[in-house]
Amino acid sequence: MKKALFIDRDGTIILETDDFKIDTMEKIAFYPNVFYWLGTIAREFDYELVLVTNQDGLGTDAFPDEPFFTTHKFIMKAFADQGIAFADEHIDRSFPEEGLETRKPGVGMLKKYFSDGYDLKNSFVIGDRITDVMLAKNLGAKCFWLKDHRNLGGNEIDHSEDELKEYIVTHSRDWKDIYDYLKSIN
Ligand SMILES: [Mg+2]
Repeated sequence: MKKALFIDRDGTIILETDDFKIDTMEKIAFYPNVFYWLGTIAREFDYELVLVTNQDGLGTDAFPDEPFFTTHKFIMKAFADQGIAFADEHIDRSFPEEGLETRKPGVGMLKKYFSDGYDLKNSFVIGDRITDVMLAKNLGAKCFWLKDHRNLGGNEIDHSEDELKEYIVTHSRDWKDIYDYLKSIN
């Protein structure tokens, strides 16, 4: 069975912006040391890397596909060029108020991982919002929480941080701590 790392994009492998919308090249900034530590994780351990991201209103006039995909492809190529290959990427385009199952923490885009082919119990979500922690719960996985102290996503779930603590492996903003934990179990 394959184990997976379900990795968020904004706030996790690139920095979040104040308007939560990466639509120009100038807004792209990579998360500190992510290439080194995620690259080391990719080389040393056997996890399938899966990108899972909410992009609110993508494809609408407020957030058109272009230039989003130009910037997105640049980001993903930068990782691929460093030996960090994502097996798949899942991008939800809805707004929170639509309440769609495809939007994190929903698992509507991730049905294929609920199969004999994947060991979700030993898989992890890596993300900066409490909705990423909730996604781990919904997958039956655990979460490395690169916690954004603005409590982003807190109003989208009906669980408190305390109620989700059993799903949180680390609270650290440092990718090295994710590597260290994975090293301790692999
Ligand atoms: Mg995020």
